[in-house]
Amino acid sequence: MDSNVTATGVHCLNCGAEFESHEARCPYCGTMYEPGAEKQYMRKLGDIREDMEDLNGLALSETKSELKAAAKSTLRTIVIIIVAILLLSGILYLWDFVRWWF
Ligand SMILES: [Zn+2]
Repeated sequence: MDSNVTATGVHCLNCGAEFESHEARCPYCGTMYEPGAEKQYMRKLGDIREDMEDLNGLALSETKSELKAAAKSTLRTIVIIIVAILLLSGILYLWDFVRWWF
């Protein structure tokens, strides 16, 4: 079977034309070239798998950054409320102090 493989490509078993070994079919007569078809199939599978991984990675990182942003804004709100309470109690304390001593 390897006798039809050359340095540049393969020879069609049907018509003898030379074509690249990654082709799935002879471009001249359309005869199936199984090793080439297998290579193309595996490459497509690999591409699809990579695409899926890209998609998953993207979705995950987006969700993460969204969660982070939500946590950040929640934290900021809590800090603002605490500061407001402290300020208010401080003012009330000062007000009491002023009222009792002057
Ligand atoms: Zn051919």
